[in-house]
Amino acid sequence: MEHQTSGPNPLCEVGKTHQRDRHRMRPLDDVPGVWVCSKHDLFATVVEKERAEAIERGDPFPMHDGTLGVASRHGDERPNGIVIYYRAAAND
Ligand SMILES: [Zn+2]
Repeated sequence: MEHQTSGPNPLCEVGKTHQRDRHRMRPLDDVPGVWVCSKHDLFATVVEKERAEAIERGDPFPMHDGTLGVASRHGDERPNGIVIYYRAAAND
């Protein structure tokens, strides 16, 4: 699969829901196609539209580092898919 961080950095999901805290995510060092908000421990990547539509908030989502994360909401539509936010699964 082709991963690109072309286009603008997405707004952090937290900023999308809290208008006073709007800020953009930054490309993750060394991992093409992944953005990060270090303030909120949140990540984002672009997923093919067909696959993205099957992902619901709270679904397991494979992390860029091979561990299992949790999908959050959908973000902007991009030419190559849809932005999906995700975060690391909570460690008990
Ligand atoms: Zn944030």
